[in-house]
Amino acid sequence: MLENQLKTQYSALGISAPVLRFGESILETLTDRFASIDRIAEYNQLKVLKAMQDCQVREACLTGTTGYGYNDIGRETLEAVYAQIFHTQDALVRPQITCGTHALALALMSNLRPGDELLSPVGRPYDTLEEVIGIRPSKGSLAEYGITYAQVDLLSDGSFDYDGIRNAINQRTKLVTIQRSKGYATRPTLSVERIGELISFIKKIKPDVICMVDNCYGEFVETVEPTDVGADMAVGSLIKNPGGGLAPIGGYIAGTKECVKNAAYRLTSPGLGKEVGASLGVLPNLYQGLFLAPTVTASALKGAIFAANLYERLGFSVFPDSSASRHDIIQAVTFGRPEGVIAFCQGIQAAAPVDSFVTPEPWDMPGYDAPVIMAAGAFVSGSSIELSADGPVRPPYTVYFQGGLTWPHAKFGILKSVQSLLDQGMIKI
Ligand SMILES: *Cc1c(COP(=O)(O)O)cnc(C)c1O
Repeated sequence: MLENQLKTQYSALGISAPVLRFGESILETLTDRFASIDRIAEYNQLKVLKAMQDCQVREACLTGTTGYGYNDIGRETLEAVYAQIFHTQDALVRPQITCGTHALALALMSNLRPGDELLSPVGRPYDTLEEVIGIRPSKGSLAEYGITYAQVDLLSDGSFDYDGIRNAINQRTKLVTIQRSKGYATRPTLSVERIGELISFIKKIKPDVICMVDNCYGEFVETVEPTDVGADMAVGSLIKNPGGGLAPIGGYIAGTKECVKNAAYRLTSPGLGKEVGASLGVLPNLYQGLFLAPTVTASALKGAIFAANLYERLGFSVFPDSSASRHDIIQAVTFGRPEGVIAFCQGIQAAAPVDSFVTPEPWDMPGYDAPVIMAAGAFVSGSSIELSADGPVRPPYTVYFQGGLTWPHAKFGILKSVQSLLDQGMIKI
């Protein structure tokens, strides 16, 4: 009975019987992996709950302030909750941090001074950071302020180039930026354990260097965060994992007192720091989103693994592969031709609760050096913890898929992408 009802419902939403059958046959093989994701979510749910209880989150925390925002108990308590979850001395969690790039730029610009050097020991950083750093010239970049940049690429097998890193660290090296997720690159996402190994190595050479982790898409995927293994700062966006789909804006920096203080003085003003910054009306969504974040992240993770298994079976190269352990929620699928990327994104768009009727097309997005196509029919504009897919339209024509506020929706979106490729004659089932 239920099975038939489901089939009818899928069919009404444009999923053909062969695509559904194909999906179900893949799902049967994933039971154990999904169970272990649920256990991690269980742990992280308790971690978040404990932090909220210990910090005595109360009803008064859910009303916002206006104007200067002095003594905003909700804002201050939320920052204490983040600090407890990340096991850091302090945290800056603000709607005035406009996105992940802003949070990262803020952490860098506030903790570096002219003459300092920034080092990335894990290769090229995320596209938008190239302009922040000045790898691609931009107004206001670190380079314009006399902050230099050094980079050591990962070795061809994905391991750290320890000799190269040792040679790159010099007396001007002030801050090391480590990107956890692969971003728009095809390299392995770093596990928290590997990040810890890298940080220990670096701190042995130069104990006072600041280690910052770009934690975007990594939050709550494991039971530990980079700040549990020596990172001085973890930085991310609230319209990704930790916002749980409900945060309408924001970014966070969780870290040492000194790093967070520097960031706060830069975000607002010297002298003002964390004391100002009205929370307006967004706090209920930031709290509730954080509360939901562990299970939302789990849904997204299941979607990523499901997609990897489906597309690998269809003969495409997927990254991470179908059986790899997961350290972020991103799934890359390489189509080798632009039409594949476009058809995939069209399928994801057609699966959305909002704007399902529009057709996404590539455009020149600020901060990126190739046209980018994005599929996102999200409740929060641009939110990539919601079901979404995007990719720069350039060889090797890889699409990056992520998100899904619920597992049934992630599943449906992936089936819809397969259906889109099938309908356009790009695959056979
Ligand atoms: C998304 C992302 C960013 C930038 O965040 P935005 O919110 O898009 O500005 C930076 N680094 C990584 C690894 C990301 O995934």
